Amino acid sequence: ALTGHKNWPEQWPEAQPRAEYDVVIVGAGGHGLGAAYYLAKEHGITNVAVIEKGWLGGGNTGRNTTIIRSNYLYDESAKLYDHALDLWENLSTELNYNVMYSKRGVMMLAHNVHDVQSFQRHIHANRLNGVDNRWLTPAEAKKFCPPLNIAPDARYPVMGAALQQRAGTARHDAVAWGYARAAAKRGVDIIQNCPVIAIRRGPDGSVEGVDTAKGFIKAKKVAVSAAGHTSVVMESAGVRMPLESYPLQALVSEPVKPVFPCVVMSNTVHAYISQSDKGELVIGSGTDQYTSYSQRGGLPLIEHTVAAICEVFPIFTRMRMLRKWGGIVDVTPDRSAILGKTPVKGLYVNCGWGTGGFKATPGAAHTLAWTVAKDEPHPINAPFTLERFTTGRLIDEAAAAAVAH
Ligand code: FAD
Repeated sequence: ALTGHKNWPEQWPEAQPRAEYDVVIVGAGGHGLGAAYYLAKEHGITNVAVIEKGWLGGGNTGRNTTIIRSNYLYDESAKLYDHALDLWENLSTELNYNVMYSKRGVMMLAHNVHDVQSFQRHIHANRLNGVDNRWLTPAEAKKFCPPLNIAPDARYPVMGAALQQRAGTARHDAVAWGYARAAAKRGVDIIQNCPVIAIRRGPDGSVEGVDTAKGFIKAKKVAVSAAGHTSVVMESAGVRMPLESYPLQALVSEPVKPVFPCVVMSNTVHAYISQSDKGELVIGSGTDQYTSYSQRGGLPLIEHTVAAICEVFPIFTRMRMLRKWGGIVDVTPDRSAILGKTPVKGLYVNCGWGTGGFKATPGAAHTLAWTVAKDEPHPINAPFTLERFTTGRLIDEAAAAAVAH
């Protein structure tokens, strides 16, 4: 920095679009960049462009609160998120980029009998799937997370907690940058400040390429990984998506010394919290209650979230908020992702991760690359079809978890 950043080597070249690619990926978030990396590394497909309307990692990848866990209820989800967790374990080495994956543990608080029953059901289901998750008494929960208020007369008494020890956090920007650098090294073009305006289809209906702000780019295959704007991009190809887009907000406090050793989530009070390596408390909750493409969100939700956090952690009552922000999340009716082929030949989609797709980044990217390369589902993403909303074979995590971060 003392040189005014003048002598810093470029991490990846600023590419300009070529006339034609084997694969165009729309959206340079972690999922899109990761898919480009795995296409190059595992399938030898390097004539790939990742096209981003803004700056790389400036979507939800750079806006999320980085909770990583795999303790989902249904078999399909547990397999997908646990596949991602396996990849997280080795991602820094794989990319030669420190993504700061920290297995500090995610604890989900039970405040009423329903929570207790529901989390214990999750624990049993997780164990059957080989996913670690265990029950803690209130005293054990307090030992694991000392700032927790377990007083029996608390407004939201803690009746126990489910702990996934292998879960935790990672550095979100590093994930985007690491995948970008590793993909670019293998020949992938990353094109920023270039919105995709429409997906073009040929006379036989199959994909021909994309119209962008920098002109038409021909492509044999197009994969849309444009969280928040999937419906808009897919509509241009004539595909209607079962998605609603909501603002999702988060905030951080002023930085303080290490005080919070893990991640704690509470579905009942609708808030979750961790502490970043910079010392800020990272706080979030559920989506705003209206659909919108605004990346701001309303203040009442922040007030509600902070009030909930102060009830469960009275130690933080006098902390000051530093900043808040929002992202746009695509939400499906069953709160599970859509990852796979579409009715249009050569067009693939990865979306619907809602409030919880950061944790899936390596797994989603890895299986999306497989599907694009082979034009067939990977065994892990096979259930996450678009067709499930017509066949009714849902993966109903909406019923299984209220706050799905
Ligand atoms: P993104 O990073 O959003 O990438 C999509 C990219 O597509 C964007 O960069 C966008 O600019 C680009 N794009 C869109 N339209 C176009 C176009 N027409 N042309 C070109 N490019 C386009 N998940 C968790 O697992 N844990 C959490 O704790 C968590 N907390 C969250 C908190 C907040 C406040 C938010 C907003 C999200 C949170 N999530 C969390 C969800 C998570 O961030 C997302 O599911 C995940 O990052 C999606 O990754 P992505 O790569 O698909 O999307």
